[in-house]
Amino acid sequence: MTFLDYAPALESTSILNLKPSYGLFIGGEFVDGSGSAFATISPATEATITQVASATEGDVDRAVRSARTAYDKTWSKMSGSERGKYLFRIARLIQERSRELAVAETLDNGKPIRETRDVDIPLVAAWFFYYAGWADKLEYAGLGPKPRSLGVAAQIIPWNFPLLMLAWKIAPALAAGNTVVLKPAETTPLTALLFAEICQQAQLPPGVVNIITGAGATGAALVAHPGINKVAFTGSTPVGRTIAQTLAGTETKVTLELGGKGANIIFEDAAIDQAIEGIVSGIFFNQGHVCCAGSRLLVQENIHDDVVARLQKRLSTLRMGDPLDKNTDIGAVNSRAQLERITEITDSGEVEGATRWTSSCAIPEKGFWFAPTVFTDVHTSHRIARDEIFGPVLSVLTFRTPEEAIAKANNTPYGLSAGIWTEKASRMLAVADKLRAGVIWANTFNKFDPASPFGGYQESGYGREGGRHGLAGYLMPSDWKAGAK
Ligand code: ADP
Repeated sequence: MTFLDYAPALESTSILNLKPSYGLFIGGEFVDGSGSAFATISPATEATITQVASATEGDVDRAVRSARTAYDKTWSKMSGSERGKYLFRIARLIQERSRELAVAETLDNGKPIRETRDVDIPLVAAWFFYYAGWADKLEYAGLGPKPRSLGVAAQIIPWNFPLLMLAWKIAPALAAGNTVVLKPAETTPLTALLFAEICQQAQLPPGVVNIITGAGATGAALVAHPGINKVAFTGSTPVGRTIAQTLAGTETKVTLELGGKGANIIFEDAAIDQAIEGIVSGIFFNQGHVCCAGSRLLVQENIHDDVVARLQKRLSTLRMGDPLDKNTDIGAVNSRAQLERITEITDSGEVEGATRWTSSCAIPEKGFWFAPTVFTDVHTSHRIARDEIFGPVLSVLTFRTPEEAIAKANNTPYGLSAGIWTEKASRMLAVADKLRAGVIWANTFNKFDPASPFGGYQESGYGREGGRHGLAGYLMPSDWKAGAK
């Protein structure tokens, strides 16, 4: 170690008090699952963290019935202000247990502790606080006086922001008066199970929140269950499509938050050093496992060489390694399967003629790792410019005029996010107006707030989460026929 190196600054895991195995959380208690249990592992070391249950169709049925009973007997009859008190209590418990939750999330997901501690968990608490405040103000949700809850919501979430996606789903559903059955992703169930303990601590009435673990088959059984009124899904576009097909022609409401291939557009008049930081947080935050990542960099041709040189210099300073180390910038890829997917699409970039640059950081021996990678000489027809890679890989394209930037940014089957970097506010607004993306950041990227709606166009899905719009997705006007089940 030279005097310029960072000494390790490991966050301790002693704050965790994990059980050797976890059951399903149904009716307010942990019960055995009927499927065969499976291990959740640390992607940074491949060591087993704990065993979790796998829910079968019968278990899914038990969970949905429990949510229905809680809906009919308790939650739908409770006043909004009472529901709000439970949500405030949950939010405070999340804050109290924030360090523990950050460590658990980092261990199970592989993302750096700096991110779970400073981004994920504070946002989780913020989401519950925000929707707790809505619980007694539903008449302002935009659906007229006395809007009604839908009933039982089935919620399926991915592995990239496990607890944050849980908060995005559960907080508005409960505030609106629904009960839920939530299935976390099979590689990251840990914080959802700790959240189940928080529900017990908050003395949430049994059955209002049910958490069932398992793989895709468990999710499919949940979506197909006739007793649900709403499906909220965040995940890949192919699974979203299957869910839409399953529910076509039924009265079940659906919101889908799917993939993306966001364009981060840098104009020649942008503050370049700031833009470099925005490019880094746009695609290298959370190892690029972000559906709204700025995975395509569109840079004005005359500043291309300068931007790429500064970007490579900046990327060379990022430290990849133990996610529990507070100095770590880039953690582990979440699973072997995801690492294989990233590797396969990235290899196609070279085959198709793009130029690859990879940061020369040391790669740990165990676990799943992918060093920050940048492709230049990318054409819009290349797979790396079209497919969602969901990893720390940036594809750089150029443009000469704002019209060309807009055309290239919109040349995607997705439409989730975009970024614009310019010092000229008039250009910012004119370009934003023509981009087909649900979220557009200006001179920043990957910033989230519970009051701000989030969602996509085209193959990025439909419906919005966050803000008043996210709440409205769990409500119906008072004169609608209730979907009795
Ligand atoms: P990824 O490909 O990034 O793992 P997925 O869309 O496969 O993303 O997974 C997102 C969530 O959807 C996970 O919780 C997963 O278990 C679940 N899932 C996978 N297949 C299905 C399915 N056919 N029906 C419902 N949920 C599914």
